[in-house]
Parts: sequence; C-alpha cells; structure tokens
Amino acid sequence: MPQLRLTLLLLIISTVAAAAQSAVPQLRDITVRPSGSTATITLLFTGRVTTVVVEPKGNGVAQVRMKSVRADEKALTSAVVKPGLRSVRAHIERTDVLVANVTFTQTVASMTVTKRDSVSVVVLVKLRPNSPASAATTSAAKPTKKESSKTAPDEPPDTSPKAGNTDNNTADNRTDNALSRKRWALNTIIIDPGHGGKDPGALGIGEVKEKDVTLATSKKIREELKKLMPGVKVLLTREDDAFVELYQRGQIANKAGGKLFISIHCNSMPEKPHPASGFECYILRPGRSTDAARVALRENSVIQLEYGQERYAGMTTETTIMAAMAQSAFARFSETLAQRIRESVRTTDILPDRGVHQAGFLVLVGASMPSVLVELGYLSNEHDAELLGSKTGQRSLARSVAKGIQRYAQEYEAIIKEQ
Ligand SMILES: [Zn+2]
Repeated sequence: MPQLRLTLLLLIISTVAAAAQSAVPQLRDITVRPSGSTATITLLFTGRVTTVVVEPKGNGVAQVRMKSVRADEKALTSAVVKPGLRSVRAHIERTDVLVANVTFTQTVASMTVTKRDSVSVVVLVKLRPNSPASAATTSAAKPTKKESSKTAPDEPPDTSPKAGNTDNNTADNRTDNALSRKRWALNTIIIDPGHGGKDPGALGIGEVKEKDVTLATSKKIREELKKLMPGVKVLLTREDDAFVELYQRGQIANKAGGKLFISIHCNSMPEKPHPASGFECYILRPGRSTDAARVALRENSVIQLEYGQERYAGMTTETTIMAAMAQSAFARFSETLAQRIRESVRTTDILPDRGVHQAGFLVLVGASMPSVLVELGYLSNEHDAELLGSKTGQRSLARSVAKGIQRYAQEYEAIIKEQ
C-alpha cells in the first residue's frame, strides 16, 4: 500500500504546513475613519501582529508597514467612500511585509499606534490643512516612529483647534470637490437581513423566526426602494437562508461601496407572550439605557455561533466606544437616517413608535458609512408577531422604511448639491 502511505504522508505534510501558515496573522480588513483633523486607521487580523512601523510619506500618504502577515486579494482592496480620503491601498512586499498606504486630502502631520491587541492594529493619524509651504516640507520633516512594545503608547487625543485654512480653494481643490461629490453620491444602499442559517435569531409566538422575517422584509424594502429611487443600487448582505458572520456584513457593505447600511432585525423579550410592542431604531454609540444594552447583547450574541469568534475578543465596551467615536464622522447622518425611518413608520401607525436609541451593536462597527439598526417589532408580542409573520405586515413596514430612506436621501442630496 505504498500509494496510500504516500497519500497519508502528503496529507500530514500539507496539514502541518497549513497549521504553520495559519499561525501567521492574516489581514481581515482595513477601515479608515477620517474625522476633521484626525483619522483612525484600523487593521483587523486573525492574530497578533508583532512589528508595526508607521510613517507619514508626504502628499497626504499615511503608511503602515507590518511584518510577518498574510493577506489575500480580497482584503487588499477597499472601497473608499469618505470625504477627506483619496484612497486606501495595500500590498504585500517581500512575501510577508504588508504595506498599507492611506492617502488623505490633507497633509499627514503625525501617526501613532494607539492600540495593538490579538486582532487589531489601530493607528491615529493627525492631519493638517494643506498649504503650499507645508506641502514642500512634509515628506522630509516627519520622523519615523517604530512601535514594538506590548502596550501601545498612549497619546492624548488632539483637542487643539486647527487653524482651518478653508479659503485655499485652488483648481486642485475644485477638482477634489467635484470628485468627492461623485464619491459621495448616494448611489448604493445596503440592506442587511439580520441572522440566517444556523442562527435563527429570536423565536417568536406562532413559530415565527426572526431570520425569516428579516429576509422577507429586506427583500420587500429593496423592491420598494427600486420603485422610489430607480437609479440607486440596493444590495442585500444575504439573499437566502445563509449564515453570514457579523464582521462580514460590514465588509460586504464597504466593498460594494455602500453609502447607507440598514440592518433589519426583530426584537424579543425573554418571556412570551409579553406586552412590549413597537418599532425601534438604533444607532451605534455606547448604550445609555439598560434596555438598549439588552437589545445589543442579544443581537451580538450570534458571535457564539461563528467560527473564529476570537476576532471580537478586543471588542469590549472600550473598543465599541472607540469604534463609535471613529464613526462620529457619520454619527449625524446615522441619527438623521434613523429619525427619518422612524418618522415614516410612525405616520403609518402600523406599530407603536418606540423611538431612536443607541447601543454597541457589533454589526454596525464594521460599516464605514451612516448605519442604522432597525428592530421592526417584538416577536414576543402576539400582535407584533402576527404582523411581522404576514406578507401584508412586512409589505407595509418595508414601504415605510423605504420612504424614510428616500426622505433622508432627498435631504442628503440637497446638502451635497450646496457644497
Ligand atoms: Zn436580530
């Protein structure tokens, strides 16, 4: 049986090789969140990265170099939809050195690694407005900063007001404005049907499953949006009863160049039947009420079903707060979007209005765009569950949600045109 022995040996070798390879951290995602005079670059990995070197390279380029990492083609490309950002490019150099170049529209003044744990590297970038004088000296004057200690150096956040030199509107800037207007056009909307596959979500009265309600309603929202906003692309993070991990949902949205992310869910109380009833919207911010925290805890608990859930290991309250701060560039938009959706549902009187709340939803952490999580109603409530389980109920909710999104889009387009 030499044939079999050889096969076994090859199998063992390839298994060992795969194990050795899997010990090398792999890049999962790069997100950049510009916010005024600072920006946060977050690189997510499957394991701890040991060597990180950050360096401003001039012409608005912030460079992060990391040794002994892997990355596949998918992780190296990133959709850029944010103002203040020109591009995000990453490539592997000399087999295991990952080089990420993030190009901002402003000058990169300094870079600091603010966090490095078993799943992530976070770099704080300080920016300053471009001026002819500073542009010439940028590339030469900035020091290289090497970071290899276990705990990242803690630099206080820059709170000093920057002298915003806004009247340097050269022809270059005008081209930038036109480009960023195009980049900002609300042309792609991501609807995220919560749960799916092995994760049924909440189980309601009358055997109604959250994963079925979210998928059916999301598809109806897409249909309604197609009618209301014909030129806009509407994508779902899942089209069928598939299990999609939380972090992937944001990635799908980012890679598709999504301009809005709306995650669809159903609420539930631990005991049923329960009188709690109604429609709620959530935006990502550290929870202020125990009720909101309970909802976030339930929606986040799906990670227990995910393979490689350790990627969320650093996603403590602190990380959520950081992510929420990084998302602050979109906070105003997320809040307005939530309000418009809420108002639209309220006027139809389908379900009681329970307002807009804030909590730390992991699914909203990864999407680099205005994002809202909708809890359509309570599956633990007899009336809500019946409505949510019915096609007509789903249709009227979908229509209201879509109208709210349309209202937001109209206001948004008006703002963009003014700029
Ligand atoms: Zn849910």
